[in-house]
Amino acid sequence: MTTRQENSPVVVFWFRRDLRIDDNHALYEALNTGLPVKIAFIFDTEIIRNFKSDDVRFSFIFNRLQEINRKLAQYGQSVHLFHGTPTEAFEQMVGRWNMITVFANEDYEPAAQKRDNNINQFLAGKGIEFKTYTDQIVFHPNRVLKPDGKPYTVFTPFGKRWRQRLSEIQIPVFDSEKLLQLRKERACAVVELPKPEGIILTGAKRKAAFPEPQLIQEYDQKRDYPALDATSRVSVLLRFGLISIRQLAQMAIKESNTYLNELIWREFYMSILFHFPHTVNQSFKKRYDAISWNLNEADFQRWCCGETGYPIVDAGMRQLNATGFMHNRLRMITASFLTKHLLIDWRWGEAYFAQKLHDYEQSSNVGGWQWAASTGNDAVPYFRIFNPTLQSKRFDPRNEFIRQWVPEFESLSYPKPMVEHGFARKRALEVYGRV
Ligand code: FAD
Repeated sequence: MTTRQENSPVVVFWFRRDLRIDDNHALYEALNTGLPVKIAFIFDTEIIRNFKSDDVRFSFIFNRLQEINRKLAQYGQSVHLFHGTPTEAFEQMVGRWNMITVFANEDYEPAAQKRDNNINQFLAGKGIEFKTYTDQIVFHPNRVLKPDGKPYTVFTPFGKRWRQRLSEIQIPVFDSEKLLQLRKERACAVVELPKPEGIILTGAKRKAAFPEPQLIQEYDQKRDYPALDATSRVSVLLRFGLISIRQLAQMAIKESNTYLNELIWREFYMSILFHFPHTVNQSFKKRYDAISWNLNEADFQRWCCGETGYPIVDAGMRQLNATGFMHNRLRMITASFLTKHLLIDWRWGEAYFAQKLHDYEQSSNVGGWQWAASTGNDAVPYFRIFNPTLQSKRFDPRNEFIRQWVPEFESLSYPKPMVEHGFARKRALEVYGRV
């Protein structure tokens, strides 16, 4: 079906991983042009085909877009949904609208960078500008560099420089929702968004809420104890841009230095992925690509299912399988166990987390895995091997978290440890030592 092109010039705002209409940098810039703004989202078939059709993350995205669409109706606006590759979607848009500029927020993952370069070229060929803005982190990776202009590879000096940058600026607020209000056209009826093809939807959604100040104030003392459930659970909101990192950082600056540090870790890993895109599937320290991993499928399956015989490891894996979330302390313990105790390639674990974690973020996941496997920049030294039993005693002293996820852990039906810690430690030291 061909549709007639609307003649008056418009700009397009392209939603990606920034699903909110308040404090949205690129949306703000698009509205600021004064031209009519078309708000678009593309269900990218190149991404969809890599996931199971009922992946809950599709539902988060779609249900969030529905919410945004209903809100936009108050301002006489709506979300335009497209389905296809980004190029196919932009071909449709070009046929439909007289587009002058496309606005989007930056995405630093290597695949996203490639996509954006292609779209930039495609649009340039049609005489349309493509403008992108920093939004998912406070500072663009090129704004936190060493004095010689090279990227940092160690967290502590990166963090120092990041904080120095912060002292030089006022964190901006991009009042995009206010602009929508000011430019309000006659409210329109809400037209429910069509269900995207090839995706099975559920009611799964996430509330875009900031953490309570008290939780952030107590974060430093409580964050390492999984049974307390005392972390902020914002990772999934940041992943899809339901809340603004700038506003969260403001809160952290006020309430907790430790919490701010964690947000800086997130920016550090984004910077690493941006400057060293090969780390997606190669070790940052190249010599570790020579490790002879024990690629044992049966051992891997026991780890995936939470049947290793180490209650703390199994509790973490079962939490992940059941909820799509795993506490940070357990991410470290389970990743260390896979790579050091079982000597299984960190890429297997990274891929499993990518499939299961609702907050899956390539930069933090690759960074976290390479940290635990000692193959990364600024990683745990290879000779420091977590003892799961000691970790458990320290961070779950009354076995509360374990009891929640592995209720049978004291019974005879619970498996014996699949590998003895002392033996595994010695073996890991030998194998790592060789490279
Ligand atoms: P909080 O403890 O409340 O921290 C607040 C925010 O700070 C987090 O939401 C996150 O954005 C950031 N943050 C905290 N710790 C880290 C960290 N170590 N590295 C980077 N950012 C951090 N985080 C993801 O968002 N997605 C992932 O796919 C991911 N995979 C990981 C894999 C491994 C092996 C490890 C060790 C860590 C991984 N992390 C990942 C980091 C961290 O575990 C999660 O961000 C955190 O557990 C999310 O829970 P929260 O929001 O309650 O965190």
